[in-house]
Amino acid sequence: MEHTRVSFVLGHLEEQARVLLTQPATDSTLIVTDLSPFHPQSHLWPDQPGDSGTLLWEGGQARVSPCRMGAISPQGALFVDADIPVKRGEPGWAFVVVHPLAGHYPLTVGTPVTLRVDGEARRQLSLGHSGCHLAALALNRALAPYWKKEPAERDALGQADFDRLAITRSRVEPLGSFEQYRIGKSLRKKGVMGAELLAALPTIAEAINTQLATWLAAGGKIERSRDGEAIIDSRWWHCELEGRRITIPCGGTHADTLGELGRVEVTLAPCEEGFTLHTRVTP
Ligand SMILES: [Zn+2]
Repeated sequence: MEHTRVSFVLGHLEEQARVLLTQPATDSTLIVTDLSPFHPQSHLWPDQPGDSGTLLWEGGQARVSPCRMGAISPQGALFVDADIPVKRGEPGWAFVVVHPLAGHYPLTVGTPVTLRVDGEARRQLSLGHSGCHLAALALNRALAPYWKKEPAERDALGQADFDRLAITRSRVEPLGSFEQYRIGKSLRKKGVMGAELLAALPTIAEAINTQLATWLAAGGKIERSRDGEAIIDSRWWHCELEGRRITIPCGGTHADTLGELGRVEVTLAPCEEGFTLHTRVTP
């Protein structure tokens, strides 16, 4: 079997496809198709929730619950999300988008279907995910004074990449996101002045919000690209920022321009061994 070809990277919300596998579960049916516009939540870094929507076929339709990642073994067994036992791209395995339908349906392999994503929910997650990337870049900038020495790890703007080194959790939400950062021993060793940083969270939040307002006022295009059509092919986020086009690896969905985001603001709060960052987008 082939990997699912996906079109959410292009911003698509609807596709005609064929059923490749249907698997009844307790009170649901799992559907795999050759092509899908649905973004599945990643099993490796589950930052953006899966798209939901509708699956239609001749004579019927069903609600699609948030989609997950799946992998089909060479013997044809489907493994979903955390149960996937192999690495991405394992030879002989097909990586697929799993569309869970509530209830049982008489769908068979080969059935032509229409897959339709809930557009408003997608839009809100896209805005939240774009806001999340911008907040991370603004965080890295605001934290520049809190490094004793410069680490080798740099972000897309060439700044010390605190976000990448310290992030432990990221969840994209409708019109926002929630990140958790841990300042542990290894980060202090790399040069982060943890105590000073944590004592200055209100000042840092202010600096981030000022930076975000400046970036949004400048506008700029947001684009996506991909190495191939398959769900396992690498995907990229590009954004015009400060007169250059920056690139970040990203599997999610996004707004098309900075202007669409309206206003992006963050709040920081201390937590055990670090802090949380909540980003809110007000389009
Ligand atoms: Zn991303």
